[in-house]
Amino acid sequence: MTKVIDCVAIGEEIMKEIVKETEELKAKGITPGIATLLVGDDFGSKMYRGQVEKFCDEAGFNYVNENPPEDASEADVIAIVEKLNADKSVSGILPLRPFPEQISDTVVINSIDVNKDIDCFHPFNMGKLALGEATFPPATPAAVIEILERYARKEENMDPKDFFEGAEIVVVGHSNIVGKPVAFLALNRNATTSVTHVFTSMKGNLAKHTAGADILIVAAGKADLIGPDLVKEGAIVIDVGINRVKVVDEKGEPVLNEKGKQKTKTVGDVSFDAVKDKTRAISPVPKGVGSVTNRMLMKNALRACKISNGLL
Ligand code: NAD
Repeated sequence: MTKVIDCVAIGEEIMKEIVKETEELKAKGITPGIATLLVGDDFGSKMYRGQVEKFCDEAGFNYVNENPPEDASEADVIAIVEKLNADKSVSGILPLRPFPEQISDTVVINSIDVNKDIDCFHPFNMGKLALGEATFPPATPAAVIEILERYARKEENMDPKDFFEGAEIVVVGHSNIVGKPVAFLALNRNATTSVTHVFTSMKGNLAKHTAGADILIVAAGKADLIGPDLVKEGAIVIDVGINRVKVVDEKGEPVLNEKGKQKTKTVGDVSFDAVKDKTRAISPVPKGVGSVTNRMLMKNALRACKISNGLL
């Protein structure tokens, strides 16, 4: 029987744990806080910022919104980061990218205090992650691992250590924000970890790797990339991808909305309906990994808060 992993419930469970820890810190006179830094008004970044603000409110965190205009200079933005680095009410800083072109990603990221770098963008924290000593495992990769650990305990009655050790894990995607860090997190748990990417596909070798995976983690941003032929019978599949696609009916005709425009929907990278029954467990999209990602960011902010207050 396939288990569709209830990532929303996992996200809510983590949130309860965060609220409890926040109350304990507040009883000591300490309040965690997150600052977002958005330069300009990129739509996707604004949506993400809204979620972070909402979760901060729910958890009882301080929230600081820094939003310099689109034409802000790099020096202006660095001055804001330095102010946030010194601000005791801010435990973690989240830069929301893309930045406008006059601002270098690297320069801004490198100016963030490494103890406030809650999404692990700074090379120092990425280095620690690679060494298996992550202070702040980045939110999306950490969400994938957290989902698997909770799944292992609850559904397979297994210690996550035993669950990961020696497991054949294949990651599809090798970006710096998802594919590479999730591979490090898996490797550091002693899984046999392979990373595949667009060049694997271009050589026609994707199925060769994915079809041997006990655990398949997909983060490519390509709808329907993973069909049943790429998945081993009884595998666990975690779909990180988020794609907006047009809705068609059984005949392939466009389905229109009330305004006469073609409807769209959100899907992952895995052909969920076709793959589901082949798997032991699968995470859906929507209501999948994304339901846990922001909570992992908040967990990192709690950790940053404890570090800055000498509690860790
Ligand atoms: P990216 O574009 O930076 O990287 C995509 C990766 O997929 C690359 O490594 C590329 O080589 C690989 N790839 C592309 N086409 C491929 C193919 N045909 N075969 C094999 N590999 C292929 O994207 P990203 O930032 O890593 O994000 C990946 C996906 O995850 C996106 O859909 C994104 O929206 C989603 N995402 C979800 C969350 C979440 O919380 N659920 C968070 C971040 C990103």
